[in-house]
Amino acid sequence: MKPIFLDNNSTTQLHPEVLEAMFPWLGTPCNPSSFHESGAAAKKAVEEARGKIANLLGCYPEEILFTSGATEANNLALTASLRRTTSKHFLSTILEHKSVLEPLKRYQSNGFEVTLLESDSKGAISTSRFQEVITTQPRLVSILHSNNETGVINPLEDLVDYLNPVSLTLFHTDATQSIGKIPLNLKELPVDLLTLSAHKFHGPMGIGALYVRRRSPTIQLEPLQVGGGQEKGRRSGTLNTPAIVGMGKAAELAQLQLQKNQPLKFLRDRLESALLQAIPGSETNGDKHNRLPNTFNLYLPGVLGSALMQQVPDVCFSTGSACSSAQPEPSHVLLSMFRSLGEDAAQDRARCSIRFAVSQFTTQQEVDTAAQKIINAALQLREA
Ligand code: PMP
Repeated sequence: MKPIFLDNNSTTQLHPEVLEAMFPWLGTPCNPSSFHESGAAAKKAVEEARGKIANLLGCYPEEILFTSGATEANNLALTASLRRTTSKHFLSTILEHKSVLEPLKRYQSNGFEVTLLESDSKGAISTSRFQEVITTQPRLVSILHSNNETGVINPLEDLVDYLNPVSLTLFHTDATQSIGKIPLNLKELPVDLLTLSAHKFHGPMGIGALYVRRRSPTIQLEPLQVGGGQEKGRRSGTLNTPAIVGMGKAAELAQLQLQKNQPLKFLRDRLESALLQAIPGSETNGDKHNRLPNTFNLYLPGVLGSALMQQVPDVCFSTGSACSSAQPEPSHVLLSMFRSLGEDAAQDRARCSIRFAVSQFTTQQEVDTAAQKIINAALQLREA
């Protein structure tokens, strides 16, 4: 039997219409930088896709820069600065994905100062704490739009408001998990840089983008790779036309999906309440009201997440961020949220927690079957 896939924050199924849109480009020579007819056709397709992504985000097409995914977009965003800034200070949060935290560690070892804000117990960054620290005018602030492990959404509209409009501080947000799940419009969210990745919203893997706001003075990026000067010299390398076309189609479909009354929340809530009701002592980690409609993270006291995963191999869920699940350490996000309980209790909470994320392809039958399997396994593990 096909496994039940409830791990849609790690990746999502390619939408059949995306595959259809990509297909012709997979069998065609298509270098958008070439001046002949085939190159011109590829360039047109790439620019159409850029337009669709801009449409989804409410920005100008020329503000979209293609990357290999969110990891690269995050790394590139952190190189950004306004030329006149002399600040060597980054302000970010402990809730970030490793593709922000690891480059920040490198900056730190190269003499930069890095401040990481802790999470509150609901899994978000507190606006009052942010207000206290933002007074120093850092070079760049990077704050996750929504968290991949808990789905909790940060109060970015409020945080951005605390930035002095004439300051030289840039504001970046990693919106990888929000895109396609909740409406996000850059006309209303005045960040300077924003990260997204196609495979999180039913597009192909290996393609993502960094939004770079057109502003004066211009945002400077330090290219991570140099060469042929593609993407206005900010990201060299032949553009991946099939993947870009796929990302454009996925953006177009995501926009349509957002306009419909999505069944995501219904299925998420159905699964979450089934587990909460049947497993004594279980609790949701993070703010239940202010989170993505497809995600929940559950604490099951006395049930190790890793043991539960082994017990139910045909239901796909996770114990933390997929990128770090090769490492046995407990989630840094949950540890930060529950630090006030003391080190041992926070470790226990993180090790006995699991994450589920549904998608538009999840069915009610899948949710009900998965709930039964998880409940049986969790109760068995408790008895063992
Ligand atoms: N940021 C967040 C919040 C993520 O959830 C992920 C993927 N788990 C990434 C960045 C990295 O994405 P990619 O696979 O596109 O590099």
